Amino acid sequence: MKRVYNFSPGPSVLPLPVLEKAAAEMCDVNGTGQSVMEMSHRSKDFKPIIEKTEALLRSLMGIPEDYKVLFLQGGASLQFSMAPLNLAAVPEGEPKKRALYVDTGIWAKKAADEASKYVEVSIPASSKDRAYTYIPQAPAPAHGDAYYHITLNNTIVGTRWPSVPDTGSVPLVADVSSCILSETLDVRKFGILYAGAQKNLGPAGLTVVIIREDLIGHASSRTPALLRYDIHAGEASMYNTPPCHAIYMTGLVLQWLEDLGGVTAIEKINREKAGLFYSYLELSKHFVSPVEKNSRSLMNIPFVPRETDGEKRKRIEDRFVKEAAAAGLVNLAGHRLVGGMRASIYNAMPIEGVRSLIQFMETFERSLN
Ligand SMILES: *Cc1c(COP(=O)(O)O)cnc(C)c1O
Repeated sequence: MKRVYNFSPGPSVLPLPVLEKAAAEMCDVNGTGQSVMEMSHRSKDFKPIIEKTEALLRSLMGIPEDYKVLFLQGGASLQFSMAPLNLAAVPEGEPKKRALYVDTGIWAKKAADEASKYVEVSIPASSKDRAYTYIPQAPAPAHGDAYYHITLNNTIVGTRWPSVPDTGSVPLVADVSSCILSETLDVRKFGILYAGAQKNLGPAGLTVVIIREDLIGHASSRTPALLRYDIHAGEASMYNTPPCHAIYMTGLVLQWLEDLGGVTAIEKINREKAGLFYSYLELSKHFVSPVEKNSRSLMNIPFVPRETDGEKRKRIEDRFVKEAAAAGLVNLAGHRLVGGMRASIYNAMPIEGVRSLIQFMETFERSLN
């Protein structure tokens, strides 16, 4: 078997023991004589699987009793619509409610654009002026804001909110797709947390929504059933067929994380991994992090050549990505909209992967001298 170090931003690396367990159980899980993919989602065989996944997520994140956990589909992108539709949309003809969005990058902007179909979006803070390379000062919510939306970790540009903004009584809604379970988080500070699973939780196809109960039940009556939090919450994520296999896989990832010592243990490892890489970049003669120090992500680390000549720079980048892949370090190209390189080092990326990348870069740098 060949395994590479996969720095993909998503879908991304999964822990090898999880893949091995899933492979061993592929045709017969828990002595049921069935694959999870073949089971009725309402069967007694699947029930313990979804219940265990939720219980593990609750204990790992310390999710309070008065929050619901929903297992949905549609990706984080569908939450760009569901959050406004459920929290602040009003019937056609009535004055729109207002919601606050902080513009910290491409995903944050997409969330705001989608919301603007249903609510009046205000964007009192943005880091677009410096290519999203920092997190702006958190604006205070204005009177009447229905909710306050942030992207806690910005996957594409590699920034992360250094602290959670205090939004007072205005519910904080956060996209945590690329940082969920990477470090401890006080769920109480949020009204809604949502994440596509394919970065730090499991395979694509599952979207996790953690929502405070008082925020459920405010969708207008014309909202499609599948887009209503109250319907999904009322049916325990079984209004229709949930993504059963992705839920099972996520359960295995959560069990792996618990066995490792939980979020405090992985946070320590994540800080060590990111610390190693940022320290390397600090000293590097040829590569640099474009992100301001106090806004740097633990999960997604973009880096660019110091070379300023556009053509030379492009050649270095192309060669880097190609030679890294040949050395078993794959998916290091930056996002198509921002260029450069990016190493995504999610929970499942072992520290050895980061060490290998640094070693490769040291050799590569010598070829540039
Ligand atoms: C990947 C990503 C998304 C998009 O997720 P989908 O599940 O593909 O819709 C949204 N927000 C952030 C922060 C992401 O990293």
